Amino acid sequence: MSAKDIISAYAVAVPGKQSQPQPGLDKDIDPGVEYIAQEYWDNDGKPHLRDYVGSGKLQGKYAIITGGDSGIGRSAAIMFAREGARGITFSYLPEEEADAKHAANAIKKDGQCEVNALAINLQDEAACKKLVDSHVQKFGTISILVNNAGKQLICQDFDKIDLANVRSTFESNILQMFAVTKFALPHMKRGSSIINTTSVVAYAGAPNLVDYSSTKGAILTFTRSLALQLAPKGIRVNAVAPGPVMTALQPASRDAEEMEHFGVGTPMHGRAAQPAELGPAFVFLASPDSNVMTGACMHVNNGMHVGGS
Ligand code: NAD
Ligand code: MG
Repeated sequence: MSAKDIISAYAVAVPGKQSQPQPGLDKDIDPGVEYIAQEYWDNDGKPHLRDYVGSGKLQGKYAIITGGDSGIGRSAAIMFAREGARGITFSYLPEEEADAKHAANAIKKDGQCEVNALAINLQDEAACKKLVDSHVQKFGTISILVNNAGKQLICQDFDKIDLANVRSTFESNILQMFAVTKFALPHMKRGSSIINTTSVVAYAGAPNLVDYSSTKGAILTFTRSLALQLAPKGIRVNAVAPGPVMTALQPASRDAEEMEHFGVGTPMHGRAAQPAELGPAFVFLASPDSNVMTGACMHVNNGMHVGGS
């Protein structure tokens, strides 16, 4: 499928040439990113957009979301608020102040939810503890922990892989999950939910992302093993494996030519997803709708786990 064959209700379904420095800002993505409006197909067989509507699935809950300033984490945060969450703590990197402000406003606007936003680098173990301590001080308990922060750095040629980049990718993507989860667990009760963001590349592999895809494989196994350990305590642990999604992470790691038509050719819809199409999976895994699910992974990736990447 080529870009011109894509049928979508989103105003612009395919990105043009663009690149950004790390960590990337959503406010600089062209076309803009959609957090709330979802594409749906009416009986007329045509796509339309409608805003996500909550139904009290997370009434009175308190969540920590890492990387909630932008992309998938921001969409999950806004939808949690629409589902009645009462307090959300999210982390972001100091360079992402602008996105964090937009995210905080959207979360507050869309619910009765208080926001606690922290500019921290999760590569620092003390920062992981600060995130949890700050949340507990403000909200008292953790009902949902979304381990979502992550970054990717492209390397086409393994001979040239930068080992400092490998280390920082492992620190940013998986090692911090151990730290945040360790500090969070004493504050999580029976019925709590942990959701980890992995990726389709954990299954399909990615030739230019050997280190990143390895962290995503580790996150998958982290999810399964921790789920078994925490099941007797009544705490569920699941993962979401996105395929290509239009977020800052992509133009921050790819060159302009590579970003042009990013996501074109996926089996379902032939385009990358918008963050608004990922948020509902997090709502489902956070809520009692998934009461008997643990150690599982939801594939929200346009069919790429079966169709190749
Ligand atoms: P994003 O750039 O909007 O969000 C990632 C966030 O991670 C950043 O906003 C940043 O705040 C945070 N982060 C990264 N390194 C950090 C560090 N060292 N300390 C603290 N925070 C840090 O991009 P996104 O696509 O929404 O990413 C969310 C998750 O989804 C990531 O784990 C990513 O690997 C995963 N994912 C994304 C895609 C995609 O195509 N966008 C596909 C599969 C998986
Ligand atoms: Mg960001």
